[in-house]
Amino acid sequence: MMSLNHIRPWRNIYRRKSRQIMVGNVPVGGDAPISVQTMTNTLTTDIKGTIAQVQAAADAGADIVRISVPDEASSKALREIVRNVSVPIVADIHFHYKRGIEAAEAGAACLRINPGNIGDEKRVKEVIRAARDNNCSIRIGVNAGSLEKHLLDKYGEPCPDAMVESGLDHIKILQDNDFHEFKISCKASDVFMAAAAYQQLADATDAPIHLGITEAGGLISGTVKSAIGMGNLLWMGIGDTIRVSLSADPVEEVKMGFEILKSLGLRHRGVNIISCPSCARQGFDVIKTVEALEKRLEHIKTPMSLSIIGCVVNGPGEALMTDVGFTGGGAGSGMVYLAGKQSHKQSNADMIEHIVEQVEKKAAEIEAKGDLAAE
Ligand code: SF4
Repeated sequence: MMSLNHIRPWRNIYRRKSRQIMVGNVPVGGDAPISVQTMTNTLTTDIKGTIAQVQAAADAGADIVRISVPDEASSKALREIVRNVSVPIVADIHFHYKRGIEAAEAGAACLRINPGNIGDEKRVKEVIRAARDNNCSIRIGVNAGSLEKHLLDKYGEPCPDAMVESGLDHIKILQDNDFHEFKISCKASDVFMAAAAYQQLADATDAPIHLGITEAGGLISGTVKSAIGMGNLLWMGIGDTIRVSLSADPVEEVKMGFEILKSLGLRHRGVNIISCPSCARQGFDVIKTVEALEKRLEHIKTPMSLSIIGCVVNGPGEALMTDVGFTGGGAGSGMVYLAGKQSHKQSNADMIEHIVEQVEKKAAEIEAKGDLAAE
C-alpha cells in the first residue's frame, strides 16, 4: 500500500543528519536508504566459495559485503573476488597496514581498518594514500573487546566513554590527513554499552554510522538482541548502514537486517507478511500456510504487504491495510482481499497457490506503475 506517513506522524522516524560517503556505488549516510551488510565466513583464499557466498548474500538483498583479508594470499584472492561479484566489497583489515594497501589496490570499495592501530604515521599515510588513489572509503571499527590499552588503563574497563574516545581518536587521524570518506562503528556485545556508545558518537560526529551488536549469538537469540539494540537506535534516527552479526549463514544476517528495517518502515523489500498466531478459531492452518508462503514468496523483491489471518476477528481489519489478504472463514474456504477490499471466496485446498498468483500479479502491477515505496 502507498505510504501514508504524512497523515500518520506517529510512524515517522527522523534520521540523524550525517554526511554521505560512497562505498563503491552504494551511498551511505545522508538521505541514502539504510544499507544492509553481511560478512563472508569462507576462507578468502577459497575464491570460488567466497564468490558464491557473496552472490548468495547479494541475491538476498545485501547492499555491501565484507571479507576478511588476514594475509597476502587473501589480498590476491580479493582481486579476483571483487571482479566477479555484483556488490561493493569491504576488506576487513586488522593491524597490518600492508594488507590495507593491497586490498585498496585489489579493488576493495572500503577498508575496515582502525588507523590508530596500524603503526607509525608513515604507515597510516601510506594506507590513506592507497585508499584515496583507489576511490576506497574507510570504516573505523571500534569494538569494546579490542580497545587500546591506554584507554583501558584510563577507564579501567570497556565502557561507552572509552569506545567513543577511541573512535574520535581514529577520526582525528583521518581528518588530520584530509581524508573524509569514512564511516564509523562502535560495537559491543552488551546492548546497553553499544546503545550508549552509539548515542554519544552520533552527537560527536557527522560521519555516517555503521550499526552492529557484535557477537550477538545464534540465529534466534542474536536476532532478538540485534533487534533490541539496533532497533532502539534506528528508532532514534541513528544508523546509516547495519549488520546483524549472527553465528549463522550470512544470508540469514541479510534477511534479519531487512526484517529489522522493515519493522520500522525504514526499508521495504519483498513481501511483508502480517499473520496471526492462530488459535481454536482459525479457519485453516495459519502456521503451516505462512511457513509455505514465506518460502514460495522469497523471489518477490517488490515491497508489498500480505495479510494471512485465521478468522474474521482480525482478518478484515488487517486486510484493509494490505495489498493482498486472506481471512479464514467456515466450510473449508476463506475470503481474498485485494488492495484492502473484499474480492472473492477461495477454497482452503488450493489457497497457497492462489495467494502466490495474486501476490505475483500485484507485484507486477506495482513494478509496472513504478509505484515503489522508497527503498
Ligand atoms: S485472528 Fe482469529 S484465528 Fe487468528 S489468533 Fe485471532 S482469533 Fe485466533
